[in-house]
Amino acid sequence: MDCKTGTEHIKSLQDGRTVYIDGKLAGDVTVHPAFRNSVKSAGMLYDYQADPANIELMTFQPNGTNRRVNRAWQMPRNYAEMVHRRKAMQAWARLSGGFMGRSPDHLASSIVGQVMGIDVFEKHGAARAKALRDYYEEASRNDYFLTYVIINPQAERGKDWGEQTEDLVARIVDEDAGGITIRGAKMLGTSSIMANEVFVANLQPLKAGEEALAFSCALPMSAKGLRVLSRKSYEAAAVSVFDNPLSSRFDENDALIYFDDVKVPWERVFVHRDPDMCRAQFHDTPGHAYQNYQAQIRLSVKIKFLCGLAHRLTEAIGTTNMPPVREQLGFLAAQVSMVNAMMAGMEAEGTMRGEYYVPNRHFMYSAQVLTQDLYPKVINTLRDLSGGALIMLPSSIHDFADPQLAKIIGLTQRAAKMTPEEKVKFLKVAWDAIGSEFGSRHTQYEMFYAGARFVTTGHSYRTFDWADATGMVDQMMSSYQLKDELAPANVRQSR
Ligand SMILES: Cc1cc2nc3c(=O)[nH]c(=O)nc-3n(C[C@H](O)[C@H](O)[C@H](O)COP(=O)(O)OP(=O)(O)OC[C@H]3O[C@@H](n4cnc5c(N)ncnc54)[C@H](O)[C@@H]3O)c2cc1C
Repeated sequence: MDCKTGTEHIKSLQDGRTVYIDGKLAGDVTVHPAFRNSVKSAGMLYDYQADPANIELMTFQPNGTNRRVNRAWQMPRNYAEMVHRRKAMQAWARLSGGFMGRSPDHLASSIVGQVMGIDVFEKHGAARAKALRDYYEEASRNDYFLTYVIINPQAERGKDWGEQTEDLVARIVDEDAGGITIRGAKMLGTSSIMANEVFVANLQPLKAGEEALAFSCALPMSAKGLRVLSRKSYEAAAVSVFDNPLSSRFDENDALIYFDDVKVPWERVFVHRDPDMCRAQFHDTPGHAYQNYQAQIRLSVKIKFLCGLAHRLTEAIGTTNMPPVREQLGFLAAQVSMVNAMMAGMEAEGTMRGEYYVPNRHFMYSAQVLTQDLYPKVINTLRDLSGGALIMLPSSIHDFADPQLAKIIGLTQRAAKMTPEEKVKFLKVAWDAIGSEFGSRHTQYEMFYAGARFVTTGHSYRTFDWADATGMVDQMMSSYQLKDELAPANVRQSR
């Protein structure tokens, strides 16, 4: 059965994109030491879905095509299809312990959700709606790996976006019969070095007068003038896979994207000079709900992985059976199940939007608020459970190569259920997940990828059924009246 493979994806990244790192042009990202292993991990996702053993779970065949593509592109029409699609996403997330946060199913979910609400784009203009529908066809049929930049670079938060220094925030600087030209920046382009295309939009509120900032579009990563400024590569800083098992392979990268007068053809412009439509494209369609539902699915895997790390940590230092430690593990397990239960709740309490099944939005936003708060707490519990074990480690694999040092490692890295080599191997995974620069970036990611707390709680407030909650209070109060209480028959006799 024909389906995109890892080799095909990696080859597609050799497209002449302009990526900068450490003051230089990176050239081919598939071989550059800052990116090559992470690129291979992206390839691994496609090889996994193309494996005949996984192809039914992971892919489906869109009507009128002869190639299967990832299920993230599928638009569920009922609960069962939604759950099937979710299982495919969980299977992908398990390949990296949930540490590839911006795997291709995230953006596919966003696009799928937006297309489910194509009526919103029709109101904005038939040409823009057609552009989005055609883009969905192109991206899904080619099983593109997409990333997005929908947030403006953090600058002077006390000023409106339109008041920031010129050329900071990406905006339309020109347009003609062929399309629009954009200049300025967006952050933070996670996975952009390993993506085929970038979806550019504006999720933060805009006001009248800021029309030049109010657009959305899609561009190939190799578009002329599109510059990717990578952050520090944790992969490049990794000593070996044994020393940095996660950062050496799953450093999906984040980057500032600078649009240096990039021309976007009209057939790839979805929102044009309309501040309210920038909001509506995510919030009046199921786009925002779908992209963040995927994020919670991915987190359900990651948090279980962290819980597994916690248990092994206690085995490594022999504390598992101590009652206070058991209590901490039990509490962690409850938190993992809470994340999973919220995900199941979003699905079970979903609703139809036209012919499509959509997860329960308020349950999804509640999960977002609670998990951005939960993640650093879980990391702290792991630190608490481990003490100095995470630090009392050989500096690198090279210590094992020296017989004298290897002997001392053998004597000092003791555990009841692990050999010294197994113990060091395990503790290096644990440190990479929770304490390394890579692990620390993950805490920042989980706290902020969906917006700061004031943003996520705003979504929670907006989507909660306040009428039902306050209605119960009103009903309670309507069951008694002051005048009745004051009626002579009801007044208690006081002495
Ligand atoms: C690792 C990582 C990866 C990311 N990847 C992507 C990506 O791929 N694509 C993308 O588009 N974006 C990405 N982002 C950006 C992310 O969406 C933003 O960081 C997030 O929306 C928060 O915006 P901000 O960083 O501007 O923080 P702010 O909104 O400035 O918030 C920072 C803090 O400032 C305070 N604050 C600011 N404004 C207010 C206010 N009005 N009221 C109250 N308090 C306020 C709060 O204390 C808040 O916690 C990524 C971020 C991180 C950390």
